[in-house]
Amino acid sequence: MNSDDRELGMHRKITRRDFMNGVAITAGATLMPWHLLGESQPDPQKSPTYYPPSLTGMRGSHPGSFEVAHSLRDGTFWENASQPEDTGETYDLIIVGGGISGLAAAHFYRKAVGNQARILILDNHDDFGGHAKRNEFRVNDAFRLGFGGTFSIESPAPYSAVAKGVIEELGIDVPSYSTYVNENLYRSFGLHPKVFFDKETFGADKLVVNPFSRGIWNETEDAVGWSAEVFQQFLAEAPLAGQAKHDLERLLQEPKDYFPGLTSEQKKAKLARISYANFLTGTVGVHVDVVKLFQSIPHALFGVGIDAVAAQDAWGLELPGFDGMKLEPGPGKGMNRDCIPNEEAEKYFFHFPDGNGSIARLLVRKMIPDAIPGASMPDIVPAKADYAKLDNAGSPVRIRLNSTAVRVKLLGDAASAKEVEVTYSRGGKVFTVKAEKSILACWHVVIPYICEDLPDKQKEALASAQKVPLLYTNVAIRNWTSFQKVGANSVYAPGMYHTGLNLDLPVSISGYECARKPEEPIVVHMMKAACGPGLPARQQHTAGRLEIYTTTFETMERKIRDQLARTLSAGGFDPARDIAAITVNRWPHGYAYEYNSLFDPFWLEGGETPCEIARKPFGRIAIANSDAGAYAYTDEAINQAYRAVGEITKRLG
Ligand SMILES: Cc1cc2nc3c(=O)[nH]c(=O)nc-3n(C[C@H](O)[C@H](O)[C@H](O)COP(=O)(O)OP(=O)(O)OC[C@H]3O[C@@H](n4cnc5c(N)ncnc54)[C@H](O)[C@@H]3O)c2cc1C
Repeated sequence: MNSDDRELGMHRKITRRDFMNGVAITAGATLMPWHLLGESQPDPQKSPTYYPPSLTGMRGSHPGSFEVAHSLRDGTFWENASQPEDTGETYDLIIVGGGISGLAAAHFYRKAVGNQARILILDNHDDFGGHAKRNEFRVNDAFRLGFGGTFSIESPAPYSAVAKGVIEELGIDVPSYSTYVNENLYRSFGLHPKVFFDKETFGADKLVVNPFSRGIWNETEDAVGWSAEVFQQFLAEAPLAGQAKHDLERLLQEPKDYFPGLTSEQKKAKLARISYANFLTGTVGVHVDVVKLFQSIPHALFGVGIDAVAAQDAWGLELPGFDGMKLEPGPGKGMNRDCIPNEEAEKYFFHFPDGNGSIARLLVRKMIPDAIPGASMPDIVPAKADYAKLDNAGSPVRIRLNSTAVRVKLLGDAASAKEVEVTYSRGGKVFTVKAEKSILACWHVVIPYICEDLPDKQKEALASAQKVPLLYTNVAIRNWTSFQKVGANSVYAPGMYHTGLNLDLPVSISGYECARKPEEPIVVHMMKAACGPGLPARQQHTAGRLEIYTTTFETMERKIRDQLARTLSAGGFDPARDIAAITVNRWPHGYAYEYNSLFDPFWLEGGETPCEIARKPFGRIAIANSDAGAYAYTDEAINQAYRAVGEITKRLG
């Protein structure tokens, strides 16, 4: 260990020493990822110490969750697999995937056929909820929650009646959000969004006021609001070339129609076919520093930078350069519905301290009441789940974790089969279980490997559902006085490993209290979209997936410590002293891939989209997941679950 590492606190006994790539190496078995214990733990969920939300280190798609699926992909699984053991269990419905889509499918199925329906949900992770993952921390006496994935109820398009219906049935009163969030907390301490310029990209490390008020710049509120005065302050402090500053002023303050003579529709068609980066350099003619500054803005939404986002989408996101273009509001086919600002959708927002982990937990409690105590929406937040109750023989709904489905097969041909057999791998053994019907609510890229009888065209469409790789990192720190000293509650860092970091949204619900004073422990949320700028979007996702899959936790930890130390140096932040815990939620298979007008010609030309082909039912098997709508939002996960249940219940009466 060199002196830099010592200063960063790499020697501190918190995460890396205990977790090498998520695997406990010094701690006892209670901290071990259970799936790695193999045959010695036939039913890890039943252990009284089994409690995944409190694990730190590498989470998200943690070690032990993906190896079986990867060996299936590589064609080696069956060579090494044990003889499948028949559990003798039969169900009305088996759902593969315990994310919000799978859980919602179980909910809809019960509504359709009654609560006596026997349902088994299989998931390869050690926790339920899929991307909607809860992270827990204890720092001294303080209990803090974080979201490991799905952040909030939000969507660029309004929630459908079906999705809204589920939210209401779960007792979530979306407008009541304002009673739980302390909107003025950070502002009351003089904290505002900032931009961090790093020396590798911009020649100097500098934390500067963020002059842009748009939400896309800041995951949370508390933006300064654009004003000429703040903008001038930004220009004075930012380590940008003089020409870049001049170009920024021109871009923001001198609206121009860059395509005179074209109709609004023609302009949109043109903007849908060029990237925002090309629009800025080729059409507006800005200095390269401006592109570097804006490069990572769309990361949080699309997982790629402005080199792979159409200029039309940038207009929809209200990025600068379009004020003089006289573009008519309303649909224009860009990347997706995101390019249509929608007031109704913007108002429909709710953030639980564990993100939409609370939605997953509310769904589980509705179907398996014994597993999570409480009866109201607020009391779900502090409630502790009893994982031993999730898979009980007496319960009509059972959730079996650490279980990867490896084969889903109709027993007979698609038209006449009366049963589906599902084979899954758990703890190094292979089991079979049967049901009348099955819903595949898992990631579409997995389906061709587990459901080999599907038509080739459908398998091809399923395989094209690239996931967007992301890191959602939660760092529990002992206090946020350093944030107070530098006056920042969120930082956009276009050149850093994590391109965004935020103090936790201050939400208190039902006895769960967020940090209210700078002296108290808090969770810092950091976001990285792993991508390879310059490549087509799908190739960027493939490169990013490989990158975060092969990067060790130790390397990530060093980058996290270094980034926080540099960003907050003027505030006296000491990573060795101030960091209490780190949880990296690694999602190589993150957001559903949304069609991109730059790289998916069919999206502009019309016709059947890959997701429509991919989600066709196959006999007694239906297909859900947010991939089925090519839309990376909770409402779509619910909508697709509803459609899938409709297909198998209608078809089979
Ligand atoms: C980091 C991140 C942040 C997000 N933030 C938001 C947000 O703020 N708001 C929002 O609306 N949406 C957000 N999303 C989108 C999110 O994906 C959806 O909202 C929703 O949670 C997706 O649910 P799902 O059930 O379709 O998929 P998932 O949550 O991915 O669930 C599918 C499950 O199937 C499992 N599975 C896959 N293969 C198998 C197999 N062979 N056997 C067993 N199980 C299998 C997977 O491991 C997974 O657990 C976010 C996504 C990510 C990754």
